Amino acid sequence: MPISPEQQAEIDELRRTPVQTLRATAPGMEAHLYTAHPVLDHGFVRVIDYMGDDAAICQAARVSYGKGTKSVQNDEGLIRYLMRHWHSTPFEMCEIKLHVKLPVFVARQWIRHRTANVNEYSARYSILDREFYIPAPEHVNAQSVVNNQGRGGVLEGEEAARVLDILKADSNRAYDHYEQMIGETGPDGAPQDGLARELARMNLPSNIYTQWYWKVDLHNLFHFLRLRADAHAQYEIRVYADTICKVVADWVPAAYSAFEDYRLGGATLSGKALDCLRRMLKGEEVTQENSGMSKGEWREFEGVLR
Ligand SMILES: Cc1cc2nc3c(=O)[nH]c(=O)nc-3n(C[C@H](O)[C@H](O)[C@H](O)COP(=O)(O)OP(=O)(O)OC[C@H]3O[C@@H](n4cnc5c(N)ncnc54)[C@H](O)[C@@H]3O)c2cc1C
Repeated sequence: MPISPEQQAEIDELRRTPVQTLRATAPGMEAHLYTAHPVLDHGFVRVIDYMGDDAAICQAARVSYGKGTKSVQNDEGLIRYLMRHWHSTPFEMCEIKLHVKLPVFVARQWIRHRTANVNEYSARYSILDREFYIPAPEHVNAQSVVNNQGRGGVLEGEEAARVLDILKADSNRAYDHYEQMIGETGPDGAPQDGLARELARMNLPSNIYTQWYWKVDLHNLFHFLRLRADAHAQYEIRVYADTICKVVADWVPAAYSAFEDYRLGGATLSGKALDCLRRMLKGEEVTQENSGMSKGEWREFEGVLR
């Protein structure tokens, strides 16, 4: 369960008590504040705080004294210009703080994004919950035969059932041992000191859930989303990125729309690829052999054109 009834009551209480502010607020984001959006089997993403909106991006770009907004259309045009020309700092004026609950193996990929501020739940101080990510059957896949860093078709029948049984049994066995080691009584009921939590946790598998607060500016968030909402990203982090994408679309609709167009929907072409495209437009038959590109580059180029 991503959120317990007590935690939900706290969230509801926060959402019942609005505060007045002179700061810019984004109506779409106000609707998201504090609410937990479930991800995977026990995870979630929820917005804790944010700063700025679409207008704040334009305000910073124009170094304005007031709101800086000329007209919505004007602002949208400016935001698209900034995105198209890789002007990053106006987007850095917006910030978001998220509370994320995620499996440790997803956290290991996520933490590689260094341009954020993180505070993680301490498993030295607190006892971890018995919550492990067990993939839904449709996400139990075979190793890909074309991409060493990816998965292929869905495992079926007995093999899939066996894999899921192993994942569940290993997780539970590791957690049973964790409890035994930190417990104040031994298996025979006799009192024991109990192993330090900072040591007992080392036996837990990386599908156990952790939590953190993650604060990042919009420019670096877009960078994260471009990499992690991409088809090449592992499914288990992609679903978090997809959830954040929906939140960002409501927070800064113009900036998100420009990001969707230029970054998620767009592509970067090398000089060779651009040359091939020009030759194709002239009616020349261009193949991998006469393209000057490697097989891998050609495959990706074809993917872009498709
Ligand atoms: C599909 C996929 C597969 C991956 N596979 C692997 C893998 O097999 N092994 C692996 O180790 N990693 C892997 N990664 C992680 C990847 O290499 C990056 O570490 C990760 O995506 C974070 O990107 P970043 O450094 O650009 O982001 P951030 O850390 O947020 O940095 C953003 C930008 O800031 C600048 N920057 C930040 N810190 C520094 C610094 N100290 N010095 C100079 N410039 C800096 C860089 O321009 C950087 O692009 C993978 C990522 C993806 C998306």
